[in-house]
Amino acid sequence: MAQESDNLPPLREIIAEHGLAAQKQLGQNFLLDLNLTGRIARTAGDLSQTTVIEVGPGPGGLTRAILAAGVKHMVAVERDPRCIKALNSYLCPAYSTQLEIIEGDALKQDFASLAPAPRRIMSNLPYNIATPLLIGWLKNVQDFEGFTLMFQKEVADRIVAKPRTKAYGRLSIMCQWLCEVRLEFNIDKRAFTPPPKVQSTVVTLNTRPEPLAPATWDSMEKVVAAAFGQRRKMLRQSLKSLKLNPAEVGLLPTARAEELSVQDFAKLARLFEAQKS
Ligand code: SAM
Repeated sequence: MAQESDNLPPLREIIAEHGLAAQKQLGQNFLLDLNLTGRIARTAGDLSQTTVIEVGPGPGGLTRAILAAGVKHMVAVERDPRCIKALNSYLCPAYSTQLEIIEGDALKQDFASLAPAPRRIMSNLPYNIATPLLIGWLKNVQDFEGFTLMFQKEVADRIVAKPRTKAYGRLSIMCQWLCEVRLEFNIDKRAFTPPPKVQSTVVTLNTRPEPLAPATWDSMEKVVAAAFGQRRKMLRQSLKSLKLNPAEVGLLPTARAEELSVQDFAKLARLFEAQKS
């Protein structure tokens, strides 16, 4: 394990001193290896002009790596009051001008109001709420320059999946429509305290200046949900409930959802919008 390079107490000491036994219901799997937290922080590139919002700083492993990497400003949202107390005792005094800690539920936060743009969200996410959090951010994606996030590997694989693969589905399309996505690296479960049941992967999502193809969020979501709700069915069947005929936008009615590109889904979403109005 790397030496603490920021002259702050070792994370294990913080955990022992504040009695931060991991709570399963809060998805607490702490990363204490500073080589790894440093690597995640570096993945985001130059942060000197960026505000980072972190979900779930826990005892502060990733938080201090991001601060040590020279972030302009950082806001961390944590639900566990024990962690808030620990962070206030050792990390806030060391970075008093850069770091702000907020006690609260990330699922209820208005993230854009927390800090000025450009904003990047970085987190070793609590896996039980990782997908709803990501979907919430994507709905307001222009508020963020991007995201550096750790997911369980299976979710990361879905985010970057290409058409005609098993992992390709709703999450792949909504993410790739709005962001350039990249798998960074895997992290073995043994690196966490306590180890989770699953492997983990760091993913970068950088917000596209414009979505890959025009469509509204609601129409895109409806069309993609209908098509993948009956994944093995042909489009003419799966899109019946939305009264959509794929042939009208040049798509084969006999094709299946997993064969369509993001642009194809946007065509269907625009057809859906046109039929509604
Ligand atoms: N960042 C730390 C690390 O890498 O060691 C902790 C990561 S741990 C996987 C997830 C963190 O999210 C925990 O500190 C947990 O208390 C916090 N958390 C869980 N649910 C939350 C919520 N709804 N809002 C804010 N934080 C939450």
